[in-house]
Amino acid sequence: MSISGKGRIFSSPSLTDVYPELVDNQHVSVLKITIWVMLAGAVALIATLSISPGSVSPWRVSAPALLLVLALAAHLVLRYRGAIAAMRLLTVGGWALATAVSMATEGVRTPILLSYPMLVIFSGWMLGARYGVGLYIASSIAVIAMAIGQSMDVFGGAASLPPAVMALAYLVAMTLSVTMTIYLVRSFHQSYAQYRILTENIKDVVGIMDTETLHFRYLSPSVQRLLGYTPQELLAVPATHALGADAGARLSHLIRSRAQSLLSDGALPRTDYTDEVKLSRKDGSTVWTEVISSYYRNPDNGRVETRGVARDIGERKQMELALRELATTDFLTGISNRRHFIAQLDHELLRLQRLEAQRAAVLMLDLDHFKGINDRFGHATGDAMLKHFVTLMRRELRSIDTAGRVGGEEFSIILPGADLAGAQVFAERLRLKVSQTPLVQDGEIIPVTVSIGIAALGGADSDAALDRADQALYRAKKSGRNRVELAGVGGSVS
Ligand code: GH3
Ligand code: MG
Ligand code: MG
Repeated sequence: MSISGKGRIFSSPSLTDVYPELVDNQHVSVLKITIWVMLAGAVALIATLSISPGSVSPWRVSAPALLLVLALAAHLVLRYRGAIAAMRLLTVGGWALATAVSMATEGVRTPILLSYPMLVIFSGWMLGARYGVGLYIASSIAVIAMAIGQSMDVFGGAASLPPAVMALAYLVAMTLSVTMTIYLVRSFHQSYAQYRILTENIKDVVGIMDTETLHFRYLSPSVQRLLGYTPQELLAVPATHALGADAGARLSHLIRSRAQSLLSDGALPRTDYTDEVKLSRKDGSTVWTEVISSYYRNPDNGRVETRGVARDIGERKQMELALRELATTDFLTGISNRRHFIAQLDHELLRLQRLEAQRAAVLMLDLDHFKGINDRFGHATGDAMLKHFVTLMRRELRSIDTAGRVGGEEFSIILPGADLAGAQVFAERLRLKVSQTPLVQDGEIIPVTVSIGIAALGGADSDAALDRADQALYRAKKSGRNRVELAGVGGSVS
């Protein structure tokens, strides 16, 4: 905990506030032992005093008696009000008792003052810094007051206790301190071990990162399985170094802007984000992960930190990719299916509307007398012919062109940047190529031809453009097939 920052020590919550499981039932037994030690010690002190020789001052008897009362009260409070209330009573009551008895008897010479550091440590840990520092200040004042009072013979001048009583008082104080220490250590060990087992055994990667330095502060060991790096390797360098230049730059920008928004909006105690991030592995390969992270301000240094969980979603990503492919491509020929082609056409139209100088053409293609091929050679050969045609068509396409199968043996092509004349040249070349390249199957040479209609892409409606190309195609069919026709233009090329 930091000392800097006014009021931070006193406003910080106690361990038992933040981790109530520290004082759950399984630990109360140690508190009970503490109370029994006090009870037994008080009884033994009374017994020792009563048999010890010399004058027995009323204060010497009342001190162990008060200890007995305090232990009994703590026993009842533990039973009816719980562990925290009992601990408060023990620390404050124990302190008051120790101070009163010390002042009345031997002042700073008494072994009872040994209980001061013990009470300060224990209350600081379990009841919070406010108690610890409060008792520290009160104890310091009491010790100084006792020393002054004693030197002025105001109080604390009683004769020293017999050695047996001194020894017993030491023993009680030491036994109490060792039980309380064991209590604290055991509580911590159990709680900490629980979280450690959790973070070290889940397959997901848990991490904490400082958003200013982009250094990880913690990474669970599972990071080695995900990225190939050990946690130590990744803790040593900024996260951006290890995660690849590309992802690193993007991530650092993202993380810093979120941290900034948290700092400027201030009020948000935490903000949760879910991201899909492609990370580089140590061996150079990449892995898709889903990172769920939250941002918060570290109260100790005021800096924004992020803690998160990263999960390998490679399989899910692959499935998504496969599904998308399944949904967008034609199973037989591997080019876009009708729905995806129309979407691409809409996209091209939108692009054209933005770039006024640009133009594009859309082609409708239909194989001629295809039913005849099916009838003569069978459906499988028809399928082979469709694939054969797509192979020829693909060879003629530029990388910016898009083709789709929009019907059984009907295809469509978008030629971005092409005017009608340019599209006509392309269509003519393809038509000629198809007519000159028959499908060869089982030694059989099966010729095929294609009719093509062309329309300029424009307006707002992709359906309208497709319709016009379709009408041109219809004219090509009517004029004898194996032809190219332009929409809205009288001439044709054959
Ligand atoms: P044209 O276009 O020249 O007027 O004559 P066509 O014989 O090609 O006539 P139409 O377009 O009406 O016939 C298309 C045929 O294509 C009908 C159908 O049996 C066949 N067809 C549609 N889809 C497939 C397919 O996936 N595989 C095969 N083998 N045939 C198909
Ligand atoms: Mg047809
Ligand atoms: Mg046809």
